[in-house]
Amino acid sequence: MNSSDLAFDTKHIWHPYTSMSQPIPTYPVVEAKGVELIMADGKVLVDGMSSWWAAIHGYNHPILNQAVTAQLQKMSHVMFGGITHPAAIKLCRQLVEITPEPLECVFLADSGSVAVEVSLKMALQYWQARGEKRQRILTLRHGYHGDTFGAMAVCDPENSMHGLYKGYLPPHIFVDAPQCGFHEEWDSRDLAAITREVDEKQQEIAAIILEPIVQGAGGMRFYHPKYLKGVRELCDRYGILLIADEIATGFGRTGKLFACDHANISPDIMCLGKALTGGYMTLSATITTRHVADTISNGEAGCFMHGPTFMGNPLACAVADASLKLLRESPWQQTVAKIEQQLIEELTPLSSHSRVKDVRILGAIGVVEMCEPVNTAELQKKFVAQGVWVRPFGRLIYVMPPYIISPEQLSKVTGAIRKVIEE
Ligand SMILES: *Cc1c(COP(=O)(O)O)cnc(C)c1O
Repeated sequence: MNSSDLAFDTKHIWHPYTSMSQPIPTYPVVEAKGVELIMADGKVLVDGMSSWWAAIHGYNHPILNQAVTAQLQKMSHVMFGGITHPAAIKLCRQLVEITPEPLECVFLADSGSVAVEVSLKMALQYWQARGEKRQRILTLRHGYHGDTFGAMAVCDPENSMHGLYKGYLPPHIFVDAPQCGFHEEWDSRDLAAITREVDEKQQEIAAIILEPIVQGAGGMRFYHPKYLKGVRELCDRYGILLIADEIATGFGRTGKLFACDHANISPDIMCLGKALTGGYMTLSATITTRHVADTISNGEAGCFMHGPTFMGNPLACAVADASLKLLRESPWQQTVAKIEQQLIEELTPLSSHSRVKDVRILGAIGVVEMCEPVNTAELQKKFVAQGVWVRPFGRLIYVMPPYIISPEQLSKVTGAIRKVIEE
């Protein structure tokens, strides 16, 4: 990559949430291995982001590489309509086995946002099949569920894109996010707001969608497991479907295999994505109970109306199957617990800093919430100068490293965070 390549990038290529006319700098990366990103000039960065929660085993992993290459020799893709293949079957067997008990019908799709679209469409078709007109979704403020229209409509109404697309998004029901932090003492009054809304509007509500325990891109907030338990009970009381968006939290990130496990609950529909393929390729899964699947299938339509072109892509399924196997055969609980312990030791002292509002850690997630919004471009430059990759947004400087990060590498990341805050 030379300077003319970079100039082309700046002029012609969109990057996530970035202006085309005044883009913030992008950094050229030409290789990635283990926990390291290698830049075009040879500089090495320790990765604190797992490429947005995805690369849990690190990059360029020999076992995952092997899974992709082996599948590539057989077939990289075949349509899923009317055809099935071993990679999808192997992956779905594992998903049915590891997700909470009543979840057993898997819908594979292309990305997290599409998994959320699928879950919402399933909820609508479920009620249609039951002859009830329920089309509203209840969700929490500070939530994030993706960037497509259906998903956007259930993202936080203030800090997301609702304003931009006013009039285009279906009006759903928002309740204040839980106040009780994960580690705080439980106060059942936290459930008052959602209980009131559900009691009042239960006949309109098709489903409640939420991110269990960790609200990710909407603010990196960690809430109490009893809240999640309470919401499950509320859904049970009125037969409302519970959709757990585990796209960020799934596969061990919070210290449990799924964040729902912290509350010992199971949703009616679960969305998985991000780390599903170990960060190799885009793939998502929406998993339902037999009851939900049967109800939809016995409805007027006679089937579920969705079928992406690249549904069940064999390359993605093969690497996801290998990634899951790798995770399950590893001592991930201890690994994540060790990362958590180190994040607590190395980041918590920052909470006394005058510019820091809060420091919170859960599993392999570390969040430093600043009092004021940070300058992403400026901070990123400082992080790169120190040889680490951290991408802050809003008031949040946060990390979720690959599980294979060494204590030395993690110290480098937390040290860099300390340095940019203390500077
Ligand atoms: C990232 C994310 C999504 C969207 O996934 P994409 O693959 O980016 O479409 C949805 N929900 C949650 C909780 C996420 O973190």
